[in-house]
This record gives sequence, C-alpha cells and structure tokens, in this order.
Amino acid sequence: MKKDQTVTGWKMEFHKISLSILGITLYYTGMAQNTEHPNVIYVFPDQFRNHAMQFWNENPFQSHINFKADPVYTPNLNKFAKESVVLTSAQSNCPLSSPYRGMFLTGMYPDGSGVSLNCNNTRPISNLHADAVAISDVFSQKGYDCGYIGKLHVDYPTQNNPQAPGTYVEDRSTVWDAYTPQERRHGFSYWYSYGTFDVHKSPHYWDTEGNRHEIREWSPSHEADKAIEYIRTAKDKQKPFFLVVSMNPPHSPYQSLNDCEEQDYNLYKDKALNQLLIRPNVNPELKDKQKCAPYYFASVSGVDRAFGRILEELDRLGLSNNTIVVFSSDHGETMASHVEDPKNSPYAEAMNVPFLLRYPGKLNPQVNSLLLSTPDIMPTLLSLAGLKKDIPASVQGRDLSPFLKPNASLKKAPKGVLYIRNIDGDINTKGLVTNYFPVARGIKTDRYTLAITIDRKKQVKEILLFDDKNDPYQMKPLDPDLKANQKVLKSLKKEMRKLLRKANDPWYRDGIDKKI
Ligand code: CA
Repeated sequence: MKKDQTVTGWKMEFHKISLSILGITLYYTGMAQNTEHPNVIYVFPDQFRNHAMQFWNENPFQSHINFKADPVYTPNLNKFAKESVVLTSAQSNCPLSSPYRGMFLTGMYPDGSGVSLNCNNTRPISNLHADAVAISDVFSQKGYDCGYIGKLHVDYPTQNNPQAPGTYVEDRSTVWDAYTPQERRHGFSYWYSYGTFDVHKSPHYWDTEGNRHEIREWSPSHEADKAIEYIRTAKDKQKPFFLVVSMNPPHSPYQSLNDCEEQDYNLYKDKALNQLLIRPNVNPELKDKQKCAPYYFASVSGVDRAFGRILEELDRLGLSNNTIVVFSSDHGETMASHVEDPKNSPYAEAMNVPFLLRYPGKLNPQVNSLLLSTPDIMPTLLSLAGLKKDIPASVQGRDLSPFLKPNASLKKAPKGVLYIRNIDGDINTKGLVTNYFPVARGIKTDRYTLAITIDRKKQVKEILLFDDKNDPYQMKPLDPDLKANQKVLKSLKKEMRKLLRKANDPWYRDGIDKKI
C-alpha cells in the first residue's frame, strides 16, 4: 500500500462524467475524501471572550499576551491550543451576533453581506443577501458536503413557520427567532438550526426537511451529539465535509442552573466574585452583572467539554489528520468590565475573540499575533482547503493563510482591524427600520484602539483612544485633544480611512471619514 493510503485511508480521486440527454450536456464533478481537500469544522460559541481560556496563563502562551486569563477550567481547549495556530489578536469587527455571522458566511463587511444590524422582524433591511456567495456555496460547489448545526441569526423573520404557514415561529411582540427555508441555506445540505433563542435547556431546531425538534437538554451538549452524528455519516460519503457548529452559550442569560450544567457550575460556585472577576477594569457599579460570573464561566467550561467530545470523535474515526478544526466566537462579553453592554463596543473584552486553528501536518502549532478580521476567515479557510482560486470576487477579506505558516513574517500582514457599530436609522409608520445609521467606526492595531462615534448630524460626538500596550485593560483613555496624542491619532485615522475605503463603508461613500 502506498504511504498516502496508509496514512489517511484516502486517495485523491476526481470523477468527471458527462451525459447528453436531449441535447443538454450535464457535467458532474465528484471529489472523494482526499488529502488535497481536507474536511473543515468551524465551531463557534456565542459571546465567548478570548480571555476565557485557561491556557493563556500557561507556557508557551503566557509570554505572548499582556493580560491574565480568566480563572476558568478549559482542559480541552488547553490541549487543542498546543496542537493549533493560536491567534492572540483575532477581532470581531462588528461585535454583535448577526453582523458577525453575515461577515463569516460571506467574507464581506456588514454593508456588503446585507446583515448590518441584529436581525429581527422590525429590521427588513438586515437580512443576508440571498444572492451573496457564502463560504458554504463555494464548498458545496466544489464537491463538499456542508452541514450547519445551531444558531444562525442572519435572516429577517417572516411568517414562514413550516408548522403553521402564515405565522411567525414565535409570538413575541418583536420576533427574533426565524426559520430558514431551503432556498436560503447557501449550499448547506444538512440542516439542524434555528434563528436565535436563549432558553439554553429547552432549545429547538428545524432539520433539513423543516421538521421542528424540541429538546430538553443543554444546547451545546445536544449539538455535540448532532455534530458527532453528522461526522459519522459524512465519513462514509465519498466527499470531504464542511461542518459549522454554532453554539449559543456562553450567551446570556447566566443567572441560574437553568442556564448551564450543574457539574460545570460546581467548579465555580464556592469562589468569591473577586476571585472570578480578576480584571482590574471591572466596574464596581455593575453589581447585578457581576453575579453572572460563575454561570458565565460554567457555560465556558460546558462549551469546552462539548467541543472536546467532537475532537474525540474525530480521533476515534481517524479523521483528525485530514480535518481543519477552528474554534472561535462571534464576539466577546464584557462581564461587568467597563460598561453594561456585553458586546457591540470596541473594548477588548467585546472585540477580541478566540481563534484556534488546527491542521495537523500542515500548520505547526504556534502563537501568532496576526490581526485577523472576520471577513478574512472565508478566504483563509478556502485557501487552506485547496480552493484558493475559487475565492469569489465579492470577498472583501484577505486570504491570511500565508501568515499562518511556521515562522512567517507578518511584515505584509494587516496593520489594523476595522471596528464597526451600526444602529437603527429611519423608522417608517409601520415601525419598520428603513435604513441603518453607521454610528461608530474605529480601528484596532497591534498597539492602539480607536473608536469614533458620530451624532445623527454626522458630527463627531466622542473619540475613544487607548494605548493597549501600556494600558492593556483600557482604563486610561488618551485625550484626543492633547497635543502629545495628535501624531498617533492622525496615523490611526489614516490607516482607518484605508480600511473604510477597502470595505466600501458608508463612512467612505458619504465622506464622513474626511470630516473626522
Ligand atoms: Ca452573539
């Protein structure tokens, strides 16, 4: 037996069949499981901040960061990190559920993906463009089997309840949850998903055929079961697979054992709040939020366990060596640091997300300070999967795979990450949002964080500037009016304008960037 067969059990194999039926020629291009095109699994819990991983306090990771890890137990992530490329500075450009998901799926910034605001039924203008080319469209067209499990949250909810046509899938006054019909699934042929729903121990899902499943189990545990089931089935298909597992915890609420597993809560329940909330920027006024800490960290440990079970199954099935696995999140959680809003701000707790990528034999484990933007994920994954030439022209992110190679120089890597915050614009007489307002933009570099907020007349309202090197917990904002800070502010604005132009952002199109 040849070496490539003994190692992987697969051999590269292309089939091209052309059939002529009634004068129409049909082409079929099939692709068997092979080393050229690895499987890809993207696991992303919701609201999981980069700091909530235990290994940051250990070697070799500790020397690469300037913060202390949260006091969490994440044994599976600790082991996975030692086998992965671990990014210290991956950012969620628009740290909010739906906009992140639109960027991840299409490689475009929110204005391009169509998902500019969190999706609900008052916001018809925030809806994933049906004709956008998603990462799953490309994988599917290139012969991958594509599966989506968990929270989606990129659809404008309509009255398309498959169990009761003509009604919404929920009866709250503002409808958040949504059913995604087959024609809006962008190449995902396996479906076990929902829009958005936060009852963690009573989740529900619609399957490929649109049947609704009510589950009485903590959602990440159930989704790990479904992921394992999917991988077992996909292994037997003669093609590689792309699986997305989108867990909701550690999303709020985190208030009781209704929100997390008791075994995970027991790890934290006897610790005082000041032993759990160790960041010096915890806001003493946010007493109620502070009480969430043990439940938040319990959810983190529960997600770690669910993720570990998926990895174990890959090992058991002999798939680990030919599978790219990524662990990330849609944004972080301030958890009583700075402000009450857990996300949607430029603070590191909200913007800085985990990004661990394992590709055995191809990418050596390393810690890397690459500034990754969310739209970079699609082209980077496609490139790593051998589909570089298939990255659609619509993608605004960059293929950063060259910078993940061992000892790669970051000289030509991105110099900054765009920060985006949108809010509702005009509202019509029916209460529907007819456009969005780009209320804040900013940039995060290897040293600084800048966020500029404008008022409704598009005049500068607030400038927030931090030196993240000397002030890693962002407790001493630099005065933007002080002469000593002018030089850095000017250079950050210049770099930000470049990013705004590249993203074809409304601040660039409307000339707001020239007035700031
Ligand atoms: Ca979210």
